[in-house]
Amino acid sequence: MIVSLLAVAACAAAIAQAPPSPSRFVVVLDAAHGGEDLGARLKNENEKAFTLAFSITLRALLSARGFTVVTTRDSDAGVGPDRRAEIADHARPQACLSLHASQTGSGIHLFVSSLASVRDARFLAWKTAQSAWIIRSLSLAGAIDSALSHAGVTVTLGRTALPGIDSMTCPAVAVEIAPDRSSESQAGASLDNADYQSRVAEALAAALVEWRSQAREDLRQ
Ligand SMILES: [Zn+2]
Repeated sequence: MIVSLLAVAACAAAIAQAPPSPSRFVVVLDAAHGGEDLGARLKNENEKAFTLAFSITLRALLSARGFTVVTTRDSDAGVGPDRRAEIADHARPQACLSLHASQTGSGIHLFVSSLASVRDARFLAWKTAQSAWIIRSLSLAGAIDSALSHAGVTVTLGRTALPGIDSMTCPAVAVEIAPDRSSESQAGASLDNADYQSRVAEALAAALVEWRSQAREDLRQ
């Protein structure tokens, strides 16, 4: 669950702030909550269990597509926001997706840090390190928005304070999965519907494939 939401009209155009290495394309999957932090109560489980299972599903899809995947947790462990950011920053990823789930709202809610964008990254404090990456994070959110919309999933874009992500030095987006209330059928609307989960996971993988090809294109120019 992500509490506050400031709607944004559109994502900014892609501007490369730090071109990634062409050979190794690293994605960090951050399954939110865990341990004593249960997250939101979903219909049939706690958010922490949903995000871990979804992270494992998405990791398999990404590995099959040639990504190097680093996760912030692989079990029901409590991991604080600073530790999550340390893991992400150490991996030097080209994208980080922080995975959440919510019983409220509909479709997928994408959040980028609400920190103001700065270009000079030399003197950034730990808690605001993401401010040098806002434009790239908005661009990543745009790529995810396109892929999900293409897959027929409703997307909402927002900006909010994101403990963890605010300290990350990479393009980073929080992806909050809510039931698909646009669906006619009851089964299709539920968070634990396997077809819905797989549609979302496949679309996120497709978005990252597109993100990787854009990055490689930027390198060639
Ligand atoms: Zn959450």
